[in-house]
Amino acid sequence: MLGSGSAGNATLLEDGGRRVLIDVGLSYREVTRRLAELDVPPETIAGVVITHAHGDHTRGAGLFSRRHGVPVHTTPATREVWDDEVSSWGELACDEPTDICGFRFTPFEVLHDADAETVAFRIETADGTIGYATDVGCVTADVRSNFSDCRVLVMESNHATDLLQVGPYARSTKARIAGTRGHLSNESLAGYLRDHLGRSVRCVVLAHLSRVNNVPELAEMTCREALEARGREDVRIVVSRQDRVAETVDLAAWPAPAHVAPALGRQASLPF
Ligand SMILES: [Zn+2]
Ligand SMILES: [Zn+2]
Repeated sequence: MLGSGSAGNATLLEDGGRRVLIDVGLSYREVTRRLAELDVPPETIAGVVITHAHGDHTRGAGLFSRRHGVPVHTTPATREVWDDEVSSWGELACDEPTDICGFRFTPFEVLHDADAETVAFRIETADGTIGYATDVGCVTADVRSNFSDCRVLVMESNHATDLLQVGPYARSTKARIAGTRGHLSNESLAGYLRDHLGRSVRCVVLAHLSRVNNVPELAEMTCREALEARGREDVRIVVSRQDRVAETVDLAAWPAPAHVAPALGRQASLPF
């Protein structure tokens, strides 16, 4: 996770030298600076995949695409509302797997308040599947079924419900954030983990934390309590940050999953 939060989101996915960015919501300058911290030259990025057309997910994507000749993969609806030039487009279709640089992305629609549809991803790699949902108002049956056999979950833990309610935002903004098309609370994520966490999950990455209505330690504690209630103290928790690169998650660190997609490469890691 190069950075995550309402001021910009970008995630680097790497598998044996093949590299993809999910969202480029940081500025071009900032995303290249953070890639440099990981010794990743921007010209080695082979694709950009976009969840939805909010600025905190797209800000640097156009310039990144043009400067490095990188295709931007979106659904047609997101492309329709896109207001920037890109080097080239790649198309994503909901519920259809698309191979991008050795990763098999299956986008599916989630509830969120973007003009065009918002998607989450099920991402199959040689070392297991990643569930990726950073802007999601509520955990739907689609999320549960797509994430049931994942090894790593990257999920929104946006706000603490009581901090949002006593916080400085206008009443209408609070209602929008807390609504089913808004952002996922620590408590809603905890409810999902407590009741539905898949057996193969080894790591939960908390994403899109609000700097106003959340505290990283509180988000982590709420998640930890839910995992304990599920009897899964073994699951690692990584808290992503707005202002810095988070610790790397390496899927190859766990024993190989039973089912390995033959078309995919050997090793996959997520430099969070
Ligand atoms: Zn966002
Ligand atoms: Zn959004």
